[in-house]
Amino acid sequence: MPRFVYRCSECGARYERDRVRYLCPTCGANYHAGEPLRGVLEAEFDYESLRLRFDKDHPDWSLLCAVESEYHPPFPVGNTPLFPAPRLSEALGFWRLFIKNDSLNPTGSLKDRASALVVAEANRLGEDTVVTASTGNAGVALAAACAAGGKHAIIFAPAAPPPAKLTQMLVHGAKVVRVRGTYDDAYRLSLEFSKRQSGLNRNTGYHPLTIEGKKSVAIEIFEQMGMLAPDAVVIPVGDGVILSAVHKGFCDLRALGLISTLPRLIAAQAESSDAIHHFVKTGKYRNAAAPKTFADSISVSAPSGAYLAAKAIRDSGGFSVTVSDDDIRAAQFQLADQTGIFTEPAAAATLAALKKANCKDLSREDRIVLLITGHGLKNPESVAQALLVPEPVDATWDAVNEFLS
Ligand SMILES: *Cc1c(COP(=O)(O)O)cnc(C)c1O
Ligand SMILES: [Zn+2]
Repeated sequence: MPRFVYRCSECGARYERDRVRYLCPTCGANYHAGEPLRGVLEAEFDYESLRLRFDKDHPDWSLLCAVESEYHPPFPVGNTPLFPAPRLSEALGFWRLFIKNDSLNPTGSLKDRASALVVAEANRLGEDTVVTASTGNAGVALAAACAAGGKHAIIFAPAAPPPAKLTQMLVHGAKVVRVRGTYDDAYRLSLEFSKRQSGLNRNTGYHPLTIEGKKSVAIEIFEQMGMLAPDAVVIPVGDGVILSAVHKGFCDLRALGLISTLPRLIAAQAESSDAIHHFVKTGKYRNAAAPKTFADSISVSAPSGAYLAAKAIRDSGGFSVTVSDDDIRAAQFQLADQTGIFTEPAAAATLAALKKANCKDLSREDRIVLLITGHGLKNPESVAQALLVPEPVDATWDAVNEFLS
């Protein structure tokens, strides 16, 4: 039996792994730039035989990994901590609140999981170049994974990503194409590049292994909770691929017979970047007209993974919430203050959403995980205006005393 086959999330057609690369050839033909992707592929493992081989006491998670370990670049990702947040629990009245701090990946975001696996796939296919569109973190992660794996990274970014993210891309040696336009423009151009040039395209959702790479975060949460799924996971949502990937991870665990119910997935979107939220609420898709949130990692007009993410939210019994930039900034400060974790704005949208979620929607006893996707030092400007930087004092005790009183 092959390791896995690709299954189209739209028409259900199955394809051998090396017969397709990106979208379902049939459904993908209906995809037009500037809209959500059609025909996104998901890896379907041979769960029946895995069930027999899987030993719960000595779990070998590599059985659920889509690329054989010999191809993986020397770029370890994941294994980030999951821990309770008692001060936050106290403040919110949710008694079993956990943080999964995925900002402790090598480049400071969850995107490293996907980039590492796509670079492994580039190794397997013998491709030297990997290209992506990115507002920041995906490009950063690709730059670093390519550096470790000896590949060329080409990144199509909007003209002005946060300076620290641009620095990260450049320091790892990526070729950065700064497009005067939006993320959606960068996405379209990166696809055009792939059509005209060789190399592998890592665009989120477009390359099916981006979902497979990110799903490992769900498996870790399950293992870290003592082989138990939480009741809910709160996830910041831009393109919706992280959310779909978390769902895929839990679906794989269910297919292995390790869990019986899926955690409810709670999507946190910014008010001005709410295409998935709107779709979940109304059943009708439309692009977000003018995303302008300071949470750059979730700012997108036409989320590539909109259809799959909306389905994952529904299938999991979850729901979506939108939050304002003020809510997000307040949540950034609250996380910093009550958990010791400084996050970039997108990651703080999780806490903002949980605070807004009605307690009718969640029980006080639910085990809830906030998925912290990106580090605060990637975008310190995001909190700078709200900070009072102290004036220097003379180097005397009197001056110090006066300052502190
Ligand atoms: C990419 C990213 C997200 C959103 O992930 P999508 O797959 O686009 O929904 C959230 N937070 C951070 C820090 C990210 O880098
Ligand atoms: Zn299809």
